[in-house]
Amino acid sequence: MDRRIVLKVSGGALQGGRPFGIDPGELDRIAEQIGACSAEGVQIAVVVGGGNLFRGREAEASGMTAATAHQVGMLSTVLNGLALQDAVEARGVDVRTMSAIQMPQIAEPYIRRRALRHLDKGRVVICVGGTGNPFVTTDTATALRGIEVGASALLMGKNGIDGVYTADPNSHPDARRYDRLNFQDALAAQLGVVMDSAAISLCAEHGLPIHVFSIQAPGAILDAVLRGRIGTIVHDGPTAIAA
Ligand code: UDP
Repeated sequence: MDRRIVLKVSGGALQGGRPFGIDPGELDRIAEQIGACSAEGVQIAVVVGGGNLFRGREAEASGMTAATAHQVGMLSTVLNGLALQDAVEARGVDVRTMSAIQMPQIAEPYIRRRALRHLDKGRVVICVGGTGNPFVTTDTATALRGIEVGASALLMGKNGIDGVYTADPNSHPDARRYDRLNFQDALAAQLGVVMDSAAISLCAEHGLPIHVFSIQAPGAILDAVLRGRIGTIVHDGPTAIAA
């Protein structure tokens, strides 16, 4: 087993049902899944979001200087990443946190070749600080990291939804889940639920398939990696609705 994947853990996934912050139970469940995957020999780079703590665009809307608001957002991913590092390590898994923003007292700088070395050695790599640049999201960071480390799949673990649907299943009970979704169809439908369009475009350009699934289902990450049979896969093949 020599698969290498990049996993996006959004702030929302860490928040669980709480109004704000990190739910320790969710954090531990995600850490357990990452550990289980690593134990199977899957090389995992995790990109952590920060939306449970701070969103640049919202702060910008309430008057903060845009670039500064996004910087605060990037720092919020560091808080989540350190919490995840701790939870993964507590399970006896080797882990390294690498930051796109220099903070050597807290995390290694993100250097692609060092990240590759950690992955080859079976260490889980947690990427924090997004891309290090304002005005984008950690979805874009996930696509970039996935492409640069040569991941075979990008896993988007979602909170509260188990794939991509033809319409919002909360307001449209007849909505159907896509089993497979073509990149161009995902872009045309402006499916913000998958990930932002800049990130989808990057994945499309580099042929990096995106698995969208519920991260709350037990064993979901391993199922997505090993069996690829859960949720929706956004890829360069045809679109198909789940049976
Ligand atoms: N952010 C940024 N540059 C990046 C990644 C993130 O400026 O490369 C900021 C952005 O303001 C974003 C915030 O960090 O709102 C938190 O990240 P994100 O919204 O992607 O987290 P998620 O929604 O996945 O939890």
